[in-house]
Amino acid sequence: MLDQAVKRIKSGDVVAFPTETVYGLGADARNRDAVDLVFRLKGRPADNPLIVHISEIKQLFDFASEVPEAALKLAEKFWPGPLTLVLPKKSEVLDIVTGGLPTVALRMPDHPLALDLIREADPLVAPSANKSGRPSPTKPEHVEADFGKKIMVLDGGACKLGLESTVIRVDQNEITVLRPGHIDPQEIESVAGLPVKTEKPDPSKAPESPGMKYSHYAPDAQVELSTDLPAKFSSDTFYLIVPKMSMDTETPENVILYSNNYSKLAEELYDRFRQADLQEYKNVSIIGLREADETGIVQALLNRIRKAQS
Ligand code: AMP
Ligand code: MG
Repeated sequence: MLDQAVKRIKSGDVVAFPTETVYGLGADARNRDAVDLVFRLKGRPADNPLIVHISEIKQLFDFASEVPEAALKLAEKFWPGPLTLVLPKKSEVLDIVTGGLPTVALRMPDHPLALDLIREADPLVAPSANKSGRPSPTKPEHVEADFGKKIMVLDGGACKLGLESTVIRVDQNEITVLRPGHIDPQEIESVAGLPVKTEKPDPSKAPESPGMKYSHYAPDAQVELSTDLPAKFSSDTFYLIVPKMSMDTETPENVILYSNNYSKLAEELYDRFRQADLQEYKNVSIIGLREADETGIVQALLNRIRKAQS
């Protein structure tokens, strides 16, 4: 399977592959036509840049024109893992990859199949392997649901994290979180030794990470965020309940209890969104996530759920 995938990548085709976060739609980052094919297949807006996936830290220097010491420290601590570094790009990095931005996003995924593919083929652009706007794929069957059988998928089972990487821009004197993920801002701050700020969306300004302006991750069902339990469960709604609670009766099949297990909710969120559509629920109601909880995982969950609502 791997040999065939490598061949396809080298011939300019795309291959879907597992990472620890979500399935990626991989193509040779140095082949303009292959990258263009990724945008066309996904229906992705051209100004939403792609992350380049590498298999060794030293490849940072092949794509970034400047690598601040803090970026190296972060790569050494968190790679392979769910952290994406946005750095000034080298001039030879294709504009189509970076959406015309002067920066490039880089990450080393923590999955043996992904690393093998990158090592044998080349660094890969790899946005999530879904049609733009849809929930990201966390299982091979999600890729097939969006693209049919025409795309080769390396099967790695279910992704263990289930939400996309934390994206940060690393400048000489500070770090900016462009997309929250599993890794806590405080942890980034202590490893990098630089202050970390979080980009709060300002409607009057273009976002620094173009992808953040698009509706994303959305099932057909209406997604609701709620702080409180409903007085009565409605049969046309799929409930994902975060806090610990006990039920007097047997838990109905449209109610999923997470008992404060945020990692489990993160792992399952997109699969639950897709399940809601397959089972034709009108709404998905996610109950009990607290805005005041500043951990990476809660902020990442709220970020994805809000995008799914917009
Ligand atoms: P995806 O691969 O679908 O998870 O999306 C990649 C995310 O990384 C999107 O939100 C992009 O906007 C963001 N991204 C990629 N490259 C850059 C860059 N050079 N500067 C800022 N954000 C970027
Ligand atoms: Mg995506």
